[in-house]
Amino acid sequence: MICPYCKSEIPDDAKKCMHCGEWMEDAYKSQKEPEGCFSFLGETITNLLFWAFILLIAGIAVFAFLDYNDMISW
Ligand SMILES: [Zn+2]
Repeated sequence: MICPYCKSEIPDDAKKCMHCGEWMEDAYKSQKEPEGCFSFLGETITNLLFWAFILLIAGIAVFAFLDYNDMISW
């Protein structure tokens, strides 16, 4: 891979650039997860929104089903 700091060719699994001495793990982490606790919080909110969405869809489906049954019985 290419070092993002000095653009030198370094081994793919290198943790530290041997040319400029910058840590590859830090660059990788800062790109992937900015803050540990914030990403955990974001994940929890995403899960809650996902389940709220599923419940909403299920609720609409149940109401639509009940309405449909009412229409049949009338
Ligand atoms: Zn470098």
